[in-house]
Amino acid sequence: MATDANCRPEAGQWYPVIDRNRCEAKADCLEVCPYDVFEIRRLTAAEKAELSLRGRLKAWAHGGRQAFAVRADACHACGLCVKACPEKAIGLRKAAG
Ligand code: SF4
Repeated sequence: MATDANCRPEAGQWYPVIDRNRCEAKADCLEVCPYDVFEIRRLTAAEKAELSLRGRLKAWAHGGRQAFAVRADACHACGLCVKACPEKAIGLRKAAG
């Protein structure tokens, strides 16, 4: 797990959003996130059904696996995952409220 002193201290203000049609489960986000926000797992049948044709082909080529922000509430919005993703699949979104 990498650490970055620039990570903001407050969690829960922003959270990562992963583009399902871009993610290729390369796991760079897992490696750089200082807060263990991500996991890689297989897509469910319902998740696969929501992909575009291109997304389905990508998922098929990568064993049906993708990254998921399973601990999104721990995100400190440092942006390391956004910069690290080779597929440009991650963006940060402001939490409601
Ligand atoms: S911006 Fe990305 S790398 Fe940084 S804490 Fe949030 S999920 Fe982790």
